[in-house]
Amino acid sequence: METKTDFTKTDSCVPSGLTRRSFLVGVGALGAWAVLGLNGCAPSGASKGGDDAAGSDAMDETFDAVIVGTGGAGLSAAIAAHDKGLSNVVVLEKMGVAGGNTNFSSSGMNASETKFQKAQDIEDSNELFATETLDGGHNTGDEELVQFMCDNSAGAIDWLDSLGIPLDNITLTGGMSVKRCHRPTDGSAVGLTLVPGLMAAVNERGIPVRMNCEATELLTDDSGAVVGIKVNENGKEKNLGAQAVILATGGLGANQEMVTKYRPDLAGYVTTNQPGATGDGYVMAENAGAELIQMDQIQIHPTVEQETSTLVAEGVRGGGAILVNADGNRFFDEMSTRDKVSAAEQEQPGGYAWCMFDQQVYDNNKAIAKYDSAGIVTTGSDVADLAQKLDMDPATLQATVDAYNAITADGATDEFGRTEGCIVFEPGAMYAIKVAPGIHHAMGGIRINTRNEALDADGNPIPGLYAAGEVTGGIHGNNRIGGNAVCDIEVFGKNVGEVVAEALA
Ligand code: ADP
Repeated sequence: METKTDFTKTDSCVPSGLTRRSFLVGVGALGAWAVLGLNGCAPSGASKGGDDAAGSDAMDETFDAVIVGTGGAGLSAAIAAHDKGLSNVVVLEKMGVAGGNTNFSSSGMNASETKFQKAQDIEDSNELFATETLDGGHNTGDEELVQFMCDNSAGAIDWLDSLGIPLDNITLTGGMSVKRCHRPTDGSAVGLTLVPGLMAAVNERGIPVRMNCEATELLTDDSGAVVGIKVNENGKEKNLGAQAVILATGGLGANQEMVTKYRPDLAGYVTTNQPGATGDGYVMAENAGAELIQMDQIQIHPTVEQETSTLVAEGVRGGGAILVNADGNRFFDEMSTRDKVSAAEQEQPGGYAWCMFDQQVYDNNKAIAKYDSAGIVTTGSDVADLAQKLDMDPATLQATVDAYNAITADGATDEFGRTEGCIVFEPGAMYAIKVAPGIHHAMGGIRINTRNEALDADGNPIPGLYAAGEVTGGIHGNNRIGGNAVCDIEVFGKNVGEVVAEALA
């Protein structure tokens, strides 16, 4: 049985007869604690052992909910909260650009039992999606969170469609047996449609988004409830009071120190993450008493171009591409899970591979033209020409292509066990991108329940604190399936907005 946050019960500082909401809204920007002289109930910084800089400060502004982060999770939370009636919401972003790592999500959004699958006669079930997600994470994910995500995935697809973001082009990602990875109609990278679409919806609703506004510390009262957040906005420190703070701060991939704190073996890896992915949410939440789980579960992605840290989307392999080593030989089932493909790649000469494909794959995946214009694609007029450019034996590469083509053309059994996403490469132009593993996704994080409440080590919700998206842990276990990050941020981003709006109604 989950506990519903009840502010009237947990907030010993709220005068009787007032809910936390009416209290904060009523006192407003005058500063609740200062006005009432409730020194003992003043908000305090949640840093363990830190100075109590916020201790006697009043709130500079107050909100129903403060959402930290403008990735898919944060923006979805803001829209959902607004649409459920929460009017006084603000979204904070520490960078000068909105969208976080969501901007770079490429493959798509996994979802099951969707109207788009049904229209394309793709049979699927939420149970199968959940089973394959748990299997992909080697059964270390939280079953309840995973089932919740899968059960609500079709609803999230409908919701995005209603916001003018139709994801109706469906493909496969590694570890999934059914086409359930939903992409924009033209097959382009999902993040570049999702972020502008969500931002447009936020703007249409008049929800304020404050850029260059970095959240630095959660503010708590004597009972341990979160009552606001300290920010640095364009160099100015402020305390923002809030009945609910939603952390949607994304992961830690751009913070080498934090990465190696949890995973010393990942020192020196390139990262696909944007510079703002520095793990701030983990530190803030932990200091406020939240439990962090599975923090050593940091996913490396097998197809990252190393000079530019460009992620070559899994949809490229899903659309038919193969991986060959420096000798021109395939070495693994390209559609296996990311952890296994990465490990196999690291065993190859030089620890890298070439992601190789023909014109059909190129044309069916809009992201490839972008990789090409970034100068990371090597082009050959045919297999032999490409082999020469890659310094491989043309006969070896041709034999690799012939054997791969035979899986589809002749029904041959693949020696590496690939059964998904196989095609017959057509004669003519061939392409390759040099790839190796890179740090990609933080799978561990803040422990939450299906109400997105941040939980302490005993499993109790921390009043006033919620989290959604990559900053949370437990959904992906020790290996995230491609396409499941966007499902996670959309399902739980929408959910947390609705939960908070209902809790504060
Ligand atoms: P998700 O996929 O979970 O939505 P993203 O990486 O897409 O995560 O977005 C998280 C956003 O949160 C990024 O834009 C990042 O810059 C922002 N962010 C991270 N830490 C802070 C912070 N301390 N204050 C404000 N914004 C933050």
